[in-house]
Amino acid sequence: MEQQQGVSQDFQDIGSVLSGGHAEGSVVRLRGWVHRWRSSGKVVFMTIRDPSGVIQVVARATDPFWKAAESVTRESSVILEGKVRKDERAPGGYELALTAFKVHGLADPAFPIAKDLSIRHLLNVRHLWLRSRKMNAVLKVRHSVFGAIHEYFRKNGFYESTGPMFVTAACEGGSTLFKLNYFGKTAYLSQSAQFYNEALIFTLGKQYLIAPSFRAEKSKTPRHLTEFWHAECEVAWCDFEGIMKVEEDLITHIVRKVLEERKEELKTLKRDTAPLENVVAPFPRIPYERAIDLINERNAKMALTYESDLGADEEFVLASQFDKPFLVTGYPVKLKAFYHKPDPARPTHTLAGDLLAPEGYGEIIGGGQRIEDTAQLQEQMKLFDLNPKDYEWYTDLRRYGTVPHSGFGLGVDRVVRWICKLKHIRDTMPFPRTMTRVYP
Ligand code: ATP
Ligand code: MN
Repeated sequence: MEQQQGVSQDFQDIGSVLSGGHAEGSVVRLRGWVHRWRSSGKVVFMTIRDPSGVIQVVARATDPFWKAAESVTRESSVILEGKVRKDERAPGGYELALTAFKVHGLADPAFPIAKDLSIRHLLNVRHLWLRSRKMNAVLKVRHSVFGAIHEYFRKNGFYESTGPMFVTAACEGGSTLFKLNYFGKTAYLSQSAQFYNEALIFTLGKQYLIAPSFRAEKSKTPRHLTEFWHAECEVAWCDFEGIMKVEEDLITHIVRKVLEERKEELKTLKRDTAPLENVVAPFPRIPYERAIDLINERNAKMALTYESDLGADEEFVLASQFDKPFLVTGYPVKLKAFYHKPDPARPTHTLAGDLLAPEGYGEIIGGGQRIEDTAQLQEQMKLFDLNPKDYEWYTDLRRYGTVPHSGFGLGVDRVVRWICKLKHIRDTMPFPRTMTRVYP
């Protein structure tokens, strides 16, 4: 049982054993890590994990490799062979009676994840905590969410493109910009690729990307990262109604895909899938004023007016009242960024909406129709105390062949948080970045 060079076909994965892919009595060869270990002095019970699952293996004192099995430490990497046995008592329903066992990398016995399971400690040893079953499951859901987004856009005629990370102007307001010295000039990290996406629709028509966005969020909420993954799209010749349909279809597609591909992981996370089965477009459309009423009716202390913005707390009260995603539409102009198109039928309000996840989760998408008229865009900049000089190239997009267009930004990490039903958004990320965390 030598370790193979390169990628060997001679190893099975644990998942294939757990799913009944090998007859009882047949011998499988595995590579993985020691997950748990206990010994009675005569028998060693270990669980071994690999990327696909965890299985119990048993070694006996009469086995030639007994010494290795007796002295192996947690998280050691191992190569083994064992006979498949069905066993209802074993986690996963199968067990391997070891026929060969070799330690490849003996782990230092001081593996730092043992007694202290505090949030802070697990973040300090994030590079090792990624090996947990929880993180393994979340990261696989995350993988499926990314795949589903690409699949949806590509199947529906969108071109994938990219935007710059160094930029000179804010999309989403100055207070959350990360400022940096760009060879003596001031530049910022991108908060959103939207302006660049708008430029691209004049050549690609329908465009999307998934990229990091950076926001200096000083609020400590369970839904804000300073570096998050942003799926954004922009569509030419598309109005507010049209873009809401895209949002609904995309969310429906993502959830369906995760339900198909990640049954086991959702089980590991103890996620009740009933609310996810319920995610089928169309979603309820709630006018902004109605949303305010629904919050006040549930929680009079919030005492919101028809000018109030909805933050995490307000959205929690609102989104707890829904059992599928929904859209809040027609926010007042002053609550949204300057580029949102005012509703011609009611110019104090925008053709913009947020898509909120149910079960209390709140905003996962912000989007709407953009102002397409040059003069109106410039007026709106003045209203927001912005200098039109800072937005010259953006204004050019209206000067040269303007079209009605709409788009949105989806927070990928927020979607993962909701689908996995996690308390905090940092648990959706392998290496989360927040105000108090840039290590490891
Ligand atoms: P919020 O009001 O919750 O701070 P926002 O209105 O600033 O969000 P948008 O500018 O509309 O957010 O960004 C589009 C999407 O990007 C949001 O719907 C959300 O899903 C996601 N998003 C925004 N900021 C963050 C963040 N700091 N961390 C994670 N996701 C974010
Ligand atoms: Mn928003």
